[in-house]
Amino acid sequence: MGRVIGIDLGTTNSCVAVVDDGQPVVIPNAGGYKTTPSVFAIASECEYLVGYRAKRQAITNAKDTVFAAKRLIGRRFDSVEVQRSRGLYPYAILEGPNADPRIRVADRIFTCSEISATILQEMKKVAEAYLGESVDAAVITVPAYFNDAQRQSTQDAGRIAGLDVLRIINEPAAAALAYGMGREEEEKIAIYDLGGGTFDMSILEMSAGVVEVLATAGNTFLGGEDFDRRIVDHLLDVFEKDTGIDLKGDPVAMQRLKDAAEKAKCTLSLREVAEINLPFLGSGAEGPCHLACEIRRDELESLVEDIVDGTLESVQRCVKDAGLNADEIDHVVVVGGQSRMPMVQQAVANYFGQRPHKGVNPDEVVALGAAIQGSALVEGTQDVLLLDVTPLSLGISTYGGHFSRLIERNTTVPVNKSHLFTTTRDDQAAVKIRVFQGENEQALENDMLGEFVLSGIPPAPKGEPEIEVGFDIDSSGIVSVSARDLATGRQQSITVNSKSSLSCEEVDLIIEENTRLELAFRG
Ligand code: AMP
Repeated sequence: MGRVIGIDLGTTNSCVAVVDDGQPVVIPNAGGYKTTPSVFAIASECEYLVGYRAKRQAITNAKDTVFAAKRLIGRRFDSVEVQRSRGLYPYAILEGPNADPRIRVADRIFTCSEISATILQEMKKVAEAYLGESVDAAVITVPAYFNDAQRQSTQDAGRIAGLDVLRIINEPAAAALAYGMGREEEEKIAIYDLGGGTFDMSILEMSAGVVEVLATAGNTFLGGEDFDRRIVDHLLDVFEKDTGIDLKGDPVAMQRLKDAAEKAKCTLSLREVAEINLPFLGSGAEGPCHLACEIRRDELESLVEDIVDGTLESVQRCVKDAGLNADEIDHVVVVGGQSRMPMVQQAVANYFGQRPHKGVNPDEVVALGAAIQGSALVEGTQDVLLLDVTPLSLGISTYGGHFSRLIERNTTVPVNKSHLFTTTRDDQAAVKIRVFQGENEQALENDMLGEFVLSGIPPAPKGEPEIEVGFDIDSSGIVSVSARDLATGRQQSITVNSKSSLSCEEVDLIIEENTRLELAFRG
C-alpha cells in the first residue's frame, strides 16, 4: 500500500496531513494555506470549483455555492437540522429518493456524500501534489458525536473520492493522538472541540501512546456557523431599523452579511471593536442603502451567551459520564476554530479551573492525529493505540415502542453484544427488528438506523424460537447486525444501512459517473 493521509473534513475548513520521516506534518495547498475551505460550487460553463476558488466567488454565485454540507450529511430530509438549514443557506436543499437531503447546484442534484467527496478529492490532490505520488488510502475524522448514518455517509464520500477509507476516527481522539505524541506521563485530558458546525467534548486517559476515551458528548449541529448567524440576525435588525428594508430574501445581500459577520467575529477575538462596512447592500425608494456600523466584543458575547452555556452542559455531562470531577482533569485542550473566541476559552477555563493548553494549533491538530493513526494502521506499529467509545446508545424498539438499550453510550469500540429474541405469536415465521441509536426512552425519538426482517423461522408455539441477534460496532463506529435462528442455525448478516445513507450500488454508480465526469473537474 502507498502513503496514507489523514483528513480532517471540517464543516468550514478541511486539512490534510501525512507522516513524513516519522513526523506528522500538515500539507499546505497550492496557495500555501494549511487549511482549505470546505466549499463546493459550480460556476458558469459547468466549471467545478472547490476550496478557496469556490469560496471567493460565493457572493456573486450564492445559490450554486455549497457551504457546510457536513451539517446535512447522514441526516434525514425531515430532520429539524435539515429544515433549519433550508432557511439558513442560499443553495437549494431538496428531498432525495431515500428521504435524504439532496443539494441542487446549477442544474445537477448531488447527495451530501458527493459534495463531501469533492472536498476529499481536493485534499487528496493537495497531498498528491506535495508527495509527488498518488494517494489512495486515508483516515478521515468525524465529530465524536456523529451517529452511524453520518459515519457511513462520510465513508461513502471517501470511496466516491477514490480513497480507501482505512478508518473513520473521532476528531477529539485524533487531537489527543497528536497532543499525546512523545508524552510519556499518564494523564487525563479534556478535549473541547468547537468547530464551524459541530461541537464535541471528550475526556481521555493517555499514557505512552495509548489513548483511551472515557466519555464523549456533544452536538452535531452547533458551531461557528451559529455564532455567525446571530451576528447576521443582529445586522439584519440594524439595517431594517435604519432603512426599513428587510434583506432576508436577497441571497447576495445575505451572503455578504454572512461573510462580514464571520470576519467581524474573528476580529473580535483579537480586538474589542469590529467595523462592518457594506456599501450598496440594499436598495430603497431613496436609492441605494449602505450598512456601516460597529460591533463590540461585549455585544457579540451577549448575542451568543446561551450557545456557549449550552456547550458547558455537554462538558458537565461528559465529565460525569467519565466518572470524574472537573478538578481531576490534568490538562484541557481546546480544538476547532471557534474555540479561539476569548469568551469560549474563558468559559472552559472557569469550568475546569485551569487555562486551556496552548501548545496545539486548533486548526491542524485533528488532521495530524488522523495521519498518525493512518500511519500506525499501515505500518502495524503497536506504539499508538486508540481506544475510542461509541457516542450514542444502540438498541432496538420493543413492546410499546420502548427503546431497549443493548450497547450503552461510552462503551469502548470495537464491541459486539448479542441478545435473544423470540416470537409473540404461534407459528410466527418472521420477526422484524428495528435498530435505533440515541438516548431517549421512546425508540421513535432516537435515530432509526434501519430495520430488518428475519424470516424462515420454523413453525413453533410463541415464545419458543430462540433468535440470537448480534450487534457489532466496529473501530470506525459503524454498526452492523447479524441474526441467527438457534433451532436451524441459519444465520443472516445485515449491515444496518440507514435510510439516509447510500446503498453500495448507489455508491458504485456515483463512482462510475464521477469517472465519466472527471473531465469536468478542474484543479
Ligand atoms: P473549524 O471547523 O475548526 O475549521 O472552525 C471553523 C470555525 O471557526 C468558523 O466558524 C470560523 O469562523 C471560526 N473561527 C476561526 N478563527 C476564529 C477566530 N479567530 N475567532 C473566532 N472564531 C474563529
